[in-house]
Amino acid sequence: MFTHKRYTGIIEHYRNRLPVSETTRLISLGEGNTPLIQLQNIPRLTGKEVDIYVKFEGLNPTGSFKDRGMTMAVTKAVEAGSRAIICASTGNTSASAAAYAVRAGIKAFVLIPEGKIALGKLAQTLMYGAEIIQINGNFDKGMALVKEIVNHAPVTIVNSINPFRIDGQKTAAFEIVDELGDAPDYHCLPVGNAGNISAYWKGYKEYSTASETHKAVTDKRPVMCGYQAAGAAPFLAGKMIDNPETVATAIRIGHPQSWDLAWAAQKESGGWFDMFSDEQILAAQRLLSQHEGIFCEPASAASLAGALHDISTGKIPEGSKIVCTLTGNGLKDPDTAIKQCIATHPVTVEAELNAVKKVILDCL
Ligand SMILES: *Cc1c(COP(=O)(O)O)cnc(C)c1O
Repeated sequence: MFTHKRYTGIIEHYRNRLPVSETTRLISLGEGNTPLIQLQNIPRLTGKEVDIYVKFEGLNPTGSFKDRGMTMAVTKAVEAGSRAIICASTGNTSASAAAYAVRAGIKAFVLIPEGKIALGKLAQTLMYGAEIIQINGNFDKGMALVKEIVNHAPVTIVNSINPFRIDGQKTAAFEIVDELGDAPDYHCLPVGNAGNISAYWKGYKEYSTASETHKAVTDKRPVMCGYQAAGAAPFLAGKMIDNPETVATAIRIGHPQSWDLAWAAQKESGGWFDMFSDEQILAAQRLLSQHEGIFCEPASAASLAGALHDISTGKIPEGSKIVCTLTGNGLKDPDTAIKQCIATHPVTVEAELNAVKKVILDCL
């Protein structure tokens, strides 16, 4: 008999590489298994021979890679008997925490910086019914509060300082190796709290290292490239910064929680950090939309902005296979998208054949 195995999320798929047992109740929304899309038009624009793939994490259940970590973190919180989770968030973590809490039947508290969260993320978090606590302060302030509050209330932190988040997120590296048949030469990521770059590096290392329970899947590891927004670039400053500012709100972070892990990823892989202006990041976001039909949120585009810069300078040499993680969906931040397109705003004409025909013929 033909039996078709349904895809039911990263934990089930990579069960033997994740800390769950046969009896663990899995809290999943079918996250992961996101498309790895080879860019066709943008590489031609660079004039260089390079293969660029984007891992489109915006197609996860709540529209960002946070779901990979959240399915693990909430699964383990529930297994440990927790009735409530909490996070500080620039938006995507709160949307994800809220959704997985609903799925599990537990409560989610989210601390968000007032006025600094993209509209789509706020809409999601409201709809999922999380307890939203807006603070007069940025993400870093919220994070400090969350770390403190667990000493005063029975809540489990699901920010990426929760090691189960990193474990879930490492599965994106597994998927890339499974699909390409090997690790890429370079892996480019936007860096905020730096949990994700740390998670990918953990994943690549685990897949390239034999252990008692596993043979190595590959002997190759990529060079890790972490890109920040110029106004929020503690890894470039070499120290924490206090007033991070960028249009890419998902990486508007001055006190990265995975500081040491991310430096280790950079050093061990022979990689680097760099930073780009908001204009460069938004230009890369438009480039992806307008040349490939892929709409990611601003922070995500930092990965491509960095890759294109490093390809143009030759730091990433010709012949390279490059993967850029697109961390979130463009629909998360409609305001920033629309603002960029003011100049090309839709024309309005009379509702009659000739008027419509004229517009079309003028364009062709
Ligand atoms: C969380 C997030 C990031 C930053 O990831 P870190 O693990 O904090 O470095 C980047 N882009 C998007 C869309 C995010 O939601």
